[in-house]
Amino acid sequence: MKLTFLGASRQVTGSMYLLELESGYKIIVDCGVSMERQERGQKINKPFSFIEPKEINVVLLTHAHIDHSGNIPNLYGYGYEGQVVCTTATYHLAKLLLHDSAILNEKKRKRIYDIKNKEPLKGVRLSTEGLYGTRLADEATGHFFNVAFNQPFKLTEGVSVTFYPTGHLLGAANIVISVNEDGQIKTILFSGDVGRKNYPLLPDPYPLPQVDFMLCETTYAGRYHKNDKVPPEDIIEDVIKRTCVDIPGRVIIPAFSAGRTQTILYLINKLSSEGRLPPIKVFVDSPLAIESTKTYQKFPKLLNKEAREFLDENEELFDFDNLVYVKDAKQSRQLDNYHEPCVIISAAGMMEGGRIQQHIRNNISNSYCTIFIVGYNAEGTLGRQLMDKSPVITMNGKSFPVECNIEVTDAFSGHAGHGELMEFVCQQDPGKLKKLFLIHGEEPNMLVFKTELEEKGFSGIEIPYFGETFLL
Ligand SMILES: [Zn+2]
Repeated sequence: MKLTFLGASRQVTGSMYLLELESGYKIIVDCGVSMERQERGQKINKPFSFIEPKEINVVLLTHAHIDHSGNIPNLYGYGYEGQVVCTTATYHLAKLLLHDSAILNEKKRKRIYDIKNKEPLKGVRLSTEGLYGTRLADEATGHFFNVAFNQPFKLTEGVSVTFYPTGHLLGAANIVISVNEDGQIKTILFSGDVGRKNYPLLPDPYPLPQVDFMLCETTYAGRYHKNDKVPPEDIIEDVIKRTCVDIPGRVIIPAFSAGRTQTILYLINKLSSEGRLPPIKVFVDSPLAIESTKTYQKFPKLLNKEAREFLDENEELFDFDNLVYVKDAKQSRQLDNYHEPCVIISAAGMMEGGRIQQHIRNNISNSYCTIFIVGYNAEGTLGRQLMDKSPVITMNGKSFPVECNIEVTDAFSGHAGHGELMEFVCQQDPGKLKKLFLIHGEEPNMLVFKTELEEKGFSGIEIPYFGETFLL
């Protein structure tokens, strides 16, 4: 069989891999959007220069995050007619996230394209290619097929697939494909994103079987989460108390709507139930976060033991006194007139769009405000500029001096750190693993990870380039 790397190659986002079997059966694993530097991203998002979507037999989706799922509607737009196989929770989250992306795309199209005259607006050089709308996104999720965790599912004669829970996000999986070619069984593991141990809400990654080939994400390779030993709720408690009790300020938390927001809400709920927080308002200002929270509520069995026990005792995981879900845009704008200390959780996580932008714009020069960055921010995004302590930021062509406090933590990262990734790979016997591909990471960190794995006896480690093909 043949494996081609169509994304997340020597960069973090845009996961997409093509597995071509000797029988001619073609599998795509993940079909994500590249969020790295606009120019490079645009090129890679120009979908499917290496494949003919009509010829693909099936798509397997590890989890719902847009850098793994966001190009699926385009695949259908370019002629794909098959199904997308994923877990049930992934289906529910992907449906929300893809619809939301489509709404953002429609807004972008309006900025780029004069719809009436069917031509690009004067002076705009960006392309509208790949900016699918809601019709295509909803049509795509109509083709999703749900499977259960831990149960081998037959894709076609001689080919089966198993989804193993990996934490990281509700429904997220490590995928193992088993292929019988000429009487010889070959197994290949696609890590998706590897979750962490002892992470709030989600169970630890599930142990995996020995495989022949493995693709391993490396987002946190070469790095450890700081404050690893401090419970994450203590970190939130500290920043809220310093900003909203010691001074009358506000904490703004840019957070991904699916996953990160629910983690933060659950921890604030825990702190409130233990009487560790003052009665300040917590606003969740993201329609997508509100919908994603409902999805988390639908799947309590997929949560970890601690979260299920908390739910039994307190009846609500994501609701408490002083919590306000902000539904409409008018209510969102009114938050600027709320002058009491408060916490605002809003999206998008990397601050490239969504309601968070208005909160950043209105508070960037407020020295009583703390922007508390709790997620990964790709190079070139507004979030990365703030993380890197840029003294001035630019939003929609306007410059703003940064006078508020910027605090960054990786305590809530859903990605395994260096040590956990090492443990993840070391479940495999170095003598039996024939090839290991490092993907979904920043290049210098991948090299560090590769060297350490070689010291542990692993060989055949590749760091593939975009478009590179390997015979397995
Ligand atoms: Zn992810």
